[in-house]
Parts: sequence; structure tokens; C-alpha cells
Amino acid sequence: MTEVLFKVIIIGDPTVGKTSFVQKYVNDSFRGDYKMTIGVDFALKVIKWSEKCNIKLQLWDIAGQERFTSMTRVYYKDAHACLVMFDLTQKSTFQNSVKWKKDLDQKCTLMDGSPVPCLLLANKCDDIERREVTQDEIEDLCKEHDFLGWSETSVKDGLMIEESMGFLIEEMMAKH
Ligand code: GDP
Ligand code: MG
Repeated sequence: MTEVLFKVIIIGDPTVGKTSFVQKYVNDSFRGDYKMTIGVDFALKVIKWSEKCNIKLQLWDIAGQERFTSMTRVYYKDAHACLVMFDLTQKSTFQNSVKWKKDLDQKCTLMDGSPVPCLLLANKCDDIERREVTQDEIEDLCKEHDFLGWSETSVKDGLMIEESMGFLIEEMMAKH
């Protein structure tokens, strides 16, 4: 049995749903109330990938350190993949996802010097009435700033969480 360890980081503006995403993916739980996380949270999930291989996923939640400081460099270090999340109901968080991507690429690469594989997540797609960003806008930003791809998610309704992580894991395994 081989065991592979991957570090995945999740970044983006405050309140977009990062902690909720990690908790939902790892513990299958969702809390409607907002609880600010302080420091860095880790969550570990072990996935049986095949008969011969287990994947240990270490999920790093930036947790209340959502500013561009020297801290982010420490947080990004040795990451195998990244999720940049924004909130579909807050356009500013969408615009800021470019800043997050640039901060990451400036401070961190894979061992071979290539950019860290990065997926863009458009969260809170359940809240249709308050939506402020179109699919075309996301598609354009995604291409322009070299994200691997993007997906709408709703942590609240449990939409596209497994699928997004599955996509990222496939990518990491391919590079492994
Ligand atoms: P973080 O600051 O990025 O870690 O965001 P949190 O995970 O703490 O979430 C901020 C708020 O958004 C909380 O009140 C969550 O319940 C709420 N939230 C998270 N995901 C969703 C979602 O998919 N849909 C809706 N409607 N609310 C969400
Ligand atoms: Mg948080």
C-alpha cells in the first residue's frame, strides 16, 4: 500500500465560505451561523484512491489571515494545489480572486518551478437572487489568469464539492 500526502490550500476574501467548504468536505457538516476562524486551521481527509493507494489530503484553511502579508508565504509553502474561492453575491470578492492568484504565484511554485494548480470556486450559487457575477465573466477571468478551471459551488446545498476536489486530486495525481 502506498500513501501519498497532498497539501491543498484554500484562499479568498473573508466570508466567501472557505471554512464552510473545508468542514463540509471533511466532516459533511454545514453551519448557517458565521463563526470567524482565527489562525490557521488544518483538516485531514484520507481517501482510498485505489486498491494500492491511499491519499492523505491536508486542507489548509487560511482562517482570518485573509490579508496579503508575509504570513501568506508561510501558508502557501509546499502546497500541491490551491482553491481560490469567491462569493457570487459579492462582486468585490470575485475581483479580488485575481489578487489572490497573483499573490500565490508570486510567492510559491511547485518543486519543478511550475505554477501551483489552481481551481476557481464560485460559491453561494444557491443564492440566485443576490447573484452579482455572470458565467461569462467567470470564464473570462479564469482564462486570463490561468486557472485550471472553475466551478460554481454551494456549500450550503452541498453542490459540486466532491466534484471540485476530485478534479483537483486527479490533477495532483497526474503530476505526482
Ligand atoms: P470564510 O470566512 O471564507 O471562512 O467563510 P465561512 O465559511 O465562515 O462562511 C461565511 C458565511 O457564509 C457563513 O454564514 C456561512 O454559513 C455562509 N455560507 C458558506 N457557504 C455558503 C453557501 O454555499 N451558500 C450560502 N447561502 N451561504 C454560505
Ligand atoms: Mg474562515
